[in-house]
Amino acid sequence: MAEETTRNIGIMAHIDAGKTTTTERILYYTGKNHRIGEVDNGNATMDWMEQEQDRGITIVSAATTCFWHDHQINIIDTPGHVDFTAEVERSLRVLDGAVGVFCAVGGVEPQSETVWHQADRYSVPRIAYINKMDRIGANFYNVLEDIKTRLGATPVPLQIPMGEESSYCGNIDLITMEELRWDSMSDGSVITRSPIKDEWLAKAEEWKEKLLDELGVYSDEIMELYLEGKEVPIELLKSVIRENTINQSIVPIFVGSSLKNKGVQPVLDGVIDFLPAPEELEPVKAHSVKKDEDILIERSAKGDLAGLVFKIQQDKDAGALCFIRIYSGVLKSGTAVYNVNKKKKERIGRILRMSANSSEQISSVGAGDIAVVVGMKFAQTGDTITTEGNQILLEQMEFPEPVISVA
Ligand code: GDP
Repeated sequence: MAEETTRNIGIMAHIDAGKTTTTERILYYTGKNHRIGEVDNGNATMDWMEQEQDRGITIVSAATTCFWHDHQINIIDTPGHVDFTAEVERSLRVLDGAVGVFCAVGGVEPQSETVWHQADRYSVPRIAYINKMDRIGANFYNVLEDIKTRLGATPVPLQIPMGEESSYCGNIDLITMEELRWDSMSDGSVITRSPIKDEWLAKAEEWKEKLLDELGVYSDEIMELYLEGKEVPIELLKSVIRENTINQSIVPIFVGSSLKNKGVQPVLDGVIDFLPAPEELEPVKAHSVKKDEDILIERSAKGDLAGLVFKIQQDKDAGALCFIRIYSGVLKSGTAVYNVNKKKKERIGRILRMSANSSEQISSVGAGDIAVVVGMKFAQTGDTITTEGNQILLEQMEFPEPVISVA
């Protein structure tokens, strides 16, 4: 698969905000979307939920691959606990964008603040999903304020909810100016788009104006069209949103209720539309051991191999699974690689791609993607994998100065 169709993302959330439920919905819809030719037999909710429980979709892998509209999305597990700060930071190091999940009742909670600021330090572009709109006390607009005041971010709603709590029934898409509704009797796969009804029109127009006003700050073209009262083309809106999400000026906002199967697919569209593909990013910083100087590595499959081991996971059948983010070059099974940290050569055996319910054996993995190598002997998290002679380190662990509290 071509590089530009890949997204490496994390899902960041405070415990209980709905990260697991949202991830499960993502894996369900992408799985359903990907199994081309599968007949949708239109079963009602209960049947489908039972089926799902049987399959037991849960994200247990440090990186899970799914596909959405011809794009490969690698979801990298991002711990929600701040206790594992080094682990959070390492996962932030290997992802290129993130979805922040917030609870519409709780808003921005302390742990979300910590992880959000860590992501700021790693310059991770983000979109946000305000979940649990169906819960008592849900308030979309309060969470927007929270994102502004507590996170210091610029939230830009691309959707607003229609109703809240038990009357939450769908979203208004402010880009296309349509109502999005999900049939509550089905699994939420089918989205109905329809013209905005009178009841919601004034609110939709108010928020569309806010959107254009906000984006006008970043684009003279939008500002001019807006001031002249002319239609702003959807493609122009999207490209300005994309550019300013990637440079982290803004955070596009989505809304829904994962539990009620509403609002998740637009988040996936948002991942593709607004978060960067690996090769769009700046070259990767590394350290040349031979020259003892910092260097930049182009993110290209044509370059020398450079990969970072970011997690080792034990699998009861396969043994040690070594998760490697490939920044440059191609990692091929059956070839020898060099572990710069351990100063050891090692042979690459099986390479796997992990999906929600299965793993698939593949022969190679290129720049921008994630490899799972089975049975590496020496690799540990933080190690750089390359070719012999290419003595570079992708990660230099820096331990912060201990904080001494003064009474
Ligand atoms: P995590 O800790 O962030 O992974 O959160 P979970 O996905 O495990 O969700 C925590 C709790 O909130 C569970 O009981 C979920 O069923 C519930 N939950 C998740 N999403 C929603 C939602 O959209 N609406 C409501 N009412 N509950 C939700």
